[in-house]
This record gives sequence, C-alpha cells and structure tokens, in this order.
Amino acid sequence: MSNNPTFAAGWVGGGDLVGTGPDHQVINPATGGVVATTALATAVDVDTAVTTARAALGEWAGATPAERSAVLAKLAAGMAAASAQLADEEVSQTGKPIRLANEFDVPGCVDNTEFFAGLARNLEGKASAEYSGDHTSSIRREPVGVVGSITPWNYPLQMAVWKVMPALAAGCSVVLKPAELTPLTTLTLARLATEAGLPDGVFNVLTGTGAEVGASIAGHRGVDVVTFTGSTGVGRQVMSQAAVNGTRVQLELGGKAPFLVFDDADLEASIHGAVAGALINSGQDCTAATRAIVARPLYDDFVAGVGELMSKVVVGDPTDPATDMGPLISSPHRDKVSAMVDRARDAGIRVVTGGSVPDGPGAYYPPTLLADVPEDAEVYRDEIFGPVLTVSPFDDDDDGVRRANDTVYGLAASAWTRDLYRAQRASREIHAGCVWINDHIPIISEMPHGGVGASGFGKDMSTYSLDEYLTIKHVMSDITGVPHKPWHRTIFTLPR
Ligand code: NAD
Repeated sequence: MSNNPTFAAGWVGGGDLVGTGPDHQVINPATGGVVATTALATAVDVDTAVTTARAALGEWAGATPAERSAVLAKLAAGMAAASAQLADEEVSQTGKPIRLANEFDVPGCVDNTEFFAGLARNLEGKASAEYSGDHTSSIRREPVGVVGSITPWNYPLQMAVWKVMPALAAGCSVVLKPAELTPLTTLTLARLATEAGLPDGVFNVLTGTGAEVGASIAGHRGVDVVTFTGSTGVGRQVMSQAAVNGTRVQLELGGKAPFLVFDDADLEASIHGAVAGALINSGQDCTAATRAIVARPLYDDFVAGVGELMSKVVVGDPTDPATDMGPLISSPHRDKVSAMVDRARDAGIRVVTGGSVPDGPGAYYPPTLLADVPEDAEVYRDEIFGPVLTVSPFDDDDDGVRRANDTVYGLAASAWTRDLYRAQRASREIHAGCVWINDHIPIISEMPHGGVGASGFGKDMSTYSLDEYLTIKHVMSDITGVPHKPWHRTIFTLPR
C-alpha cells in the first residue's frame, strides 16, 4: 500500500464519512511506524450511521433472495480480486505474517462471503399447516432490522465478514465498528460492498473508540441486535449497555482452549498440532491451544518436542513469506503478555523456551512454553492472548477430562487419541462450542463458531448464524369464514 494514506472516519451511506472526532494513527506493530491516518468517529456519527442504516433497510429487506445473493456473490468476487490489497492492509495493521493473510484470512473471507451468497437463497421456514383445525399457521423468518456490530483487532477482516455476511444475507442493514487499532480492511470491505452493488446505507462502518462509538452503538435505541466479538469483560459491558433498551445481543468472547493428549495419541502429530495451534496469529486467536494437558507417559517427550519445535519457528518481518510468526498487536499488549509470563516464572513455573522480550523495534515476543503449570496459576486460568502454551500432566482419563473442563471459558478444545471411545467421550464431555479430534484450529464456513460459558453465546458462520439476524413470526389465518367462532364462548356467551 502507499505510504501513510489517510482514511475517513467511516463509510456511511455508500461513501466516506467526514467524522466529528480527531485524527487517529494506525500503527504497524512490526516497526512502530505509522501505517495510515484515519479520522475518528464519535457518538454523533453513530446517530448518523444508524439513521442511514434504518433508511436503507426497507429496500434491502424487500429485495428478493436472488437479488441479495447476486450482490454477495459479486462482493466475494470483488474481494478475491482485491486479495493482495486486503492481505497487505491486514499485515500492516496487525503484524500477522503475509502467509497467514494470504492463505487463511483473505481466502477464508472470500469463501465465507460466497457461502452466504448461496445461503441467502435458502431462507425458507417450516411448511404451513392447520394445527388448530380452523386456521392455517405459517412461519415467516424476517430480518431483525438494524444490526450494530463491534469487532476486535486479531482478525479484523474475518471478524467483520463473519458478522456482516449473515446479516446481509438475512436482509438486515449494518453499522459496524472495527477495533481502533485495525480499521483499514473493514473500510475497504465496505467500499468493495458498495462497488458490488449493495444499496447505499446497508453496510456502514464507523471507526472510533470502544468507550465512545462502541458503547453508543450497543446502547443505541435504533439498533435491533448487537453482535459483538471481543473480550469477555467488554462483552459483558456491551450486554449491559444493550439491556437498557432490551436489545438482543450475540457475544463471541474469550477462550482458554484445552489441548488434551491421551496416552495413546500420535506424539508427533500432537506436538505439531500444539505448536501450530498455540502460535497461530502469534497466539492472538480466541480458539488457540493455550493449556496442553498431557498424559504422564507422553509428558516429557511432549514437552521436549514442543520446546524444540517452538525454538525453530521463524519470528520476524511479517511481510516476508518465510516468516512464521510476526509481532503481537501492540507494545502495550506485548508488555501485558510478558508480565504474565514473568509472574509465572517468579512463582516457580518452568520456562522451557522463550519467555523474554527480544531487543529491537516492534512488539515482538517469542514462542513460549511453560511446563509443570499448576491449575491455580494465572497463566493456566486467564486468557494470555499471546504465543504462550502451558503444559501440565494428568494421570487418568477422568482427571484429563476434568482438567480440560476446569475453566470458565468454553469456546474450543481438542483431544488427541487413536481410541474411538476416548474420542467420543471427549467430544461428548468437554464443554466447548467446538471440539477437534486430532487437530486444533481448522474452521469452515458451513460449520458454526461460538462458545458457551464465559466465551459467550450465539453463532458465527454456518446456517446457525442466520438465527442471530432473523426474527420468527407466526402468521395464523382463519380458514372457516365463520363470524361467531366457537372459542369466543370462553370470553362471552352473547346470543347468536
Ligand atoms: P476488546 O474486548 O478489547 O475489544 C473488542 C471491540 O470492543 C473493539 O472494537 C473495542 O473498541 C470495542 N470496545 C471496547 N470497549 C467497549 C465498550 N465499553 N463498549 C463497546 N465496545 C467496546 O477485545 P480485543 O482486545 O479487540 O480482542 C481480543 C479479545 O477478543 C480476546 O479476548 C479474544 O478471545 C476475543 N475474540 C473472540 C473471538 C470469538 O469468536 N469468540 C474471536 C476473536 C477474538
């Protein structure tokens, strides 16, 4: 991308929004340099965007499924054509490796958009029937209305796509606020949507802070559903802001995924799976493997193998295709991760590899393995959101499953075994929105993503996500034509 371009405070009504807030610099976490300048939106701009989205709702909700599908299909093609730009913007604002952006983020978003282009034509309800004998009942699934979405910085484009595409497929209009650290690809996505023929005002983006713009969206009376992805603490604030108006919410929150290795597991596969699952996106992934819980007979070999593989991971310039892992999102976040590891070390936890901030510019932190981690340790219980894996042993299957479930979170988990019954047990007994067997991380547009417990509720992706954006209306039509209905006798008994 060109040097330090300037972006508007949002994309509202099919064009740039001249925001009412101050300028804001988007920083490249790999260098500390300025990537771009955006204006910031404010609460005043939220009013404008919500009014715009409301005005655009009728046309989009009234479009036929085929018309909505055609726009989404064209948007997917536009995103595919703009892949290089989207990947470059994503790398420069997040510091994620270009390989990840090119092979995971951007193609995943194109596929997700294609999926919802198809799904837009499959919004049928149940068949009509005469349940009372005197009426025909039918179900209408209608767009919920104006969607207010708030997204995090770790996968800015994916998190926007996961919220926006089902909303558009359902016939809703959207006002979305990306994280202030990473607004660029979401602004580009909105421009591409307009170029694909989405009517002006159906998809609006506002930059801005969470405290002002995020809170204003969540608490806005003109918003019909709030869909949020981010931390558990902020998600709960969003829920209480929305509660003021009784607004529906969907919350995709934090995670602390267990990685449960039974004693019959393929050791090499589990070692590779743990390193990939822990280090994806520098560990800034809500489903990342964070707590390896390993059967004692495999424990020492697992620790040695993961430590060795982690030390070979290439950390560096995210624009270099040879780089495996880039920096964290920002220096303050890196310092938070580093402080958690320091406290663990001070408490006597064994640091097998990594664990100290390297010299030089950028918000870098090395792949870090902490071993023999007790269950009450902060690093075992709290989300670190960095390239840090803890590992602890277990003695029997009951203990392993109990440890996997010993968390307030419930977003994702994996179990590693060649035993069918153990795999079935783990998939049944682990409390999480997703349980992988002999893998950790893969996602697919057809399948839902979303958690339980402190990881939130509701689903992104898949047909299930449409439920967040549709209301169910029962239509009950009298089929007798009789003026004096038998059931009226329960209310009055006037003569006929
Ligand atoms: P965050 O909660 O700090 O911020 C998320 C968004 O909320 C940002 O846009 C932010 O500006 C906004 N926000 C902040 N304060 C707000 C307020 N008071 N009212 C309304 N909006 C507000 O999260 P983050 O640091 O950007 O992202 C990391 C977190 O996101 C991690 O906890 C991670 O697990 C979680 N996450 C979850 C999923 C999932 O699908 N469950 C996916 C990605 C990330």
